[in-house]
Amino acid sequence: MTAEIIKSGTTQRVFLWQSLLALNTLYLYPAIGEAPDSSAGLSLKVYDASTGQIIPCSVALRTSTGELLTQNPGYTDGFRCPGEFQAALPPGTTMVVVTRGFDYQAETRKLDLAAGKTSECEVRLARVSPLSREGWVCGDNHVHMKHGEAKILQDFPFLGLSARAEALDYMSVAQAWNMDAVTPESLTRACAAVSTPDCMLHWNMEQPKNYWRGDACVGHCWNLGMGNVTADGKDPIGELFAMNAAIYEKEKEPTPNFESHALIHSIGGIAAYTHPCRLWRGAWGGHNGFPFETDRFESNMAQELPFDTVVGPTYDSIDIMMQTKERLVNQLGEQLWFMLLNQGYRMPATASTDATFDNRAAPCRAPCGSIPRSKAS
Ligand SMILES: [Zn+2]
Repeated sequence: MTAEIIKSGTTQRVFLWQSLLALNTLYLYPAIGEAPDSSAGLSLKVYDASTGQIIPCSVALRTSTGELLTQNPGYTDGFRCPGEFQAALPPGTTMVVVTRGFDYQAETRKLDLAAGKTSECEVRLARVSPLSREGWVCGDNHVHMKHGEAKILQDFPFLGLSARAEALDYMSVAQAWNMDAVTPESLTRACAAVSTPDCMLHWNMEQPKNYWRGDACVGHCWNLGMGNVTADGKDPIGELFAMNAAIYEKEKEPTPNFESHALIHSIGGIAAYTHPCRLWRGAWGGHNGFPFETDRFESNMAQELPFDTVVGPTYDSIDIMMQTKERLVNQLGEQLWFMLLNQGYRMPATASTDATFDNRAAPCRAPCGSIPRSKAS
């Protein structure tokens, strides 16, 4: 495995680091071309302050030469760490910042690493809120392993480590998936293989996700907890893709969202409208006969939500919080939710990040959406 050294905002492949992932420990061996005794050793261990257990976390380590150690191009603020880390580094003043989602207090250490010696650093991270103690769980209901761009291909072990490094109790991984021959069963197996007692990874879909004749968005939903087979023995992944029309897919008339909601419910799942009020101006078109426009009103608006609310509600919740950079989406989503509450609808509010693991621009880095443990089971 190659780790990159980032310097002053630009990426430079300064050293070829070799790493070995084994026994929950990440080792980074000395840089090629350096004499071993000119480097300084670091052994880092990160513990949960209340349980005393080694815990996965995110580490931003800046070396004495100003370089930020990274490991995966999908996460460039540092590296995901299983909780133990050993490396040979340039000697001198080294800064280490250890984080673990929003509910753990971040810790910073300034280390003076000496050449030819190994320094040991132990960090204990403490929770900030009583939420976990009181039975709440924290998960992300809406992330994508591949979201079209596929600039960076990630594997399931990295997704599992990322979720645990952010202290998520569960994470739902939506399409597309980095896997040959996708089936509900193969996804279930891949997710189970990287799940741990404290963090469950499972697959879901951003479906229904519908456009009218390839143009106007009529709403996106994530689902959760679907079984692997429909009542009539079919694959729910194929069924939902068949019912929904993607952007620019003008030849296909989409099935109304409430029918997808009904299918999801029929196999034990729930469905939530996500980013119901996301809108922007920008480039659009240039595909499938749609002329390219440089500055057009665009949206992911949940245009079928009013109907689905009045006749049902046919869905189970509304996302009122996405990533913090989406301020307007979050504000409008909250306003929508309060308006519906004032009309007597008592649907839960949820949150999700819509993070894309295949794109450097929006890596999964923050947990979103706490729900009571009783509701999560
Ligand atoms: Zn999405």
